[in-house]
Amino acid sequence: MKRPTILVLGAGYGGLSTVVNLQKLVGTDEADIILVNKNDYHYESTWLHEASAGTLRPDQVRYDIQGVINKSKVQFVKATVEGIDVNTKKVATSAGEYTYDYLVIGLGFEGETFGITGLDKYALSIANVNAARQIRDHIEYQFATWSTEENRDDARLTIVVGGAGFSGIEFLGELGNRIPELCEEYDVPKEKVRVVCVEAAPMVLPGFDPELVEYAVRQLEAKGIEFSIGTPVVEATPEGVKIKKGEEEFEFIKAGTVVWAAGVRGNRLIETSGIENMRARVKVEKDMRAPGFPDVFIVGDCALMINEETNRPYPPTAQIAMQQAVTVAKNIVALMKGENTKEFVPELKGTVCSLGEHDAIGDVMGRKLTGTKASIMKKVIDNRALFMIGGVPLVLKKGKFKL
Ligand code: FAD
Ligand code: NAD
Repeated sequence: MKRPTILVLGAGYGGLSTVVNLQKLVGTDEADIILVNKNDYHYESTWLHEASAGTLRPDQVRYDIQGVINKSKVQFVKATVEGIDVNTKKVATSAGEYTYDYLVIGLGFEGETFGITGLDKYALSIANVNAARQIRDHIEYQFATWSTEENRDDARLTIVVGGAGFSGIEFLGELGNRIPELCEEYDVPKEKVRVVCVEAAPMVLPGFDPELVEYAVRQLEAKGIEFSIGTPVVEATPEGVKIKKGEEEFEFIKAGTVVWAAGVRGNRLIETSGIENMRARVKVEKDMRAPGFPDVFIVGDCALMINEETNRPYPPTAQIAMQQAVTVAKNIVALMKGENTKEFVPELKGTVCSLGEHDAIGDVMGRKLTGTKASIMKKVIDNRALFMIGGVPLVLKKGKFKL
């Protein structure tokens, strides 16, 4: 009998963890496992705010995929997926067409701009390693240019961050540490620099513990970061952003850098795949399969699952993506054996949000943490993700040990 082909698209937390789990469960001759990813490296999306601010080297955020897969069981293909058609079971990639017996879609997130004019063109987004490099280099370019130009334009030194969700706040935490270094490096007086966070909702980190949010805002404000709350960005231009302050009241913030961190959607390829979706996210069955397509699994940020306790979707996080991957791998093996699949049950352990290298807030297993304790917890979580995929060698190579 022909061995089944398991095709995994994307080597993010969801896709790569699925493969690492599959290679433990499937014997060499039992299946052909093919992993397709745009780059030959995986990047820790959860560290991209650090690379974007310039507080962590971009190469520290990424590692080789070949180093963590079992090459006798998994074929890695470095290629860009260009189209998915679940009706004909065909996946078009820059390296040719693939078909499958089981498909796992783990193509991750894209920044959501909600159709706001100008954002696609004039704002930068913390999307991947090279996008992070662009943000870091753009900010440095503005500092260097300000220092050399004759008629100095102080707006070059204004950075607007759209969105005070976890990504926005973590990026601001890094900027809070990086700006003083940049000021020294480029001889820029600190008071010339403005970092403004613009949030649409009436509070920072909407829905998170108010006491922890208050701590975070206090710490960031102490580093000179300004907040404009309840004032959605309504337009971006080459000169900055327009924000809405009241029914008919608007303000324009002139800024040399605009970083958009106001939410995510699934990968656009989902929209033309033939699977029903909402903002490129698929409301999956309880066992992580796509409705109507029993041989297609969705993992990570492309999957949408409702938390029945709150009647709201679970947030798209690496924590959930890695847990889903375990279930997806087990369920594929169950199908191969003609057994029943199992339901995915998330085990939410909490959330830790960093505020720069040595500070953080966290709500972990019902315990509130701030400062050094929370920051150490964040590093433990970061190292655990490395361990789950590449074991001790990967932790030693890429882990965070500076307390
Ligand atoms: P991704 O990690 O986005 O991986 C998708 C993969 O698919 C990538 O390798 C990409 O290169 C590849 N790919 C995309 N398109 C194609 C294509 N066309 N062809 C081939 N390959 C392709 N979550 C937490 O739980 N904790 C945190 O602390 C945390 N911090 C975060 C900080 C930031 C700054 C950001 C932006 C997110 C953070 N998240 C955090 C959320 C977390 O990063 C995502 O939920 C997680 O990355 C989703 O994993 P994924 O596998 O679905 O997708
Ligand atoms: P998010 O959706 O969590 O937050 C986006 C924020 O942008 C919201 O506060 C929203 O009100 C605001 N916003 C939306 N439209 C706006 C507008 N027009 N103007 C101004 N503000 C606007 O998105 P995120 O922060 O990118 O996070 C994405 C996912 O990644 C979430 O699930 C999050 O939990 C996860 N994440 C987790 C961590 C962590 O655990 N430490 C860190 C980063 C991200």
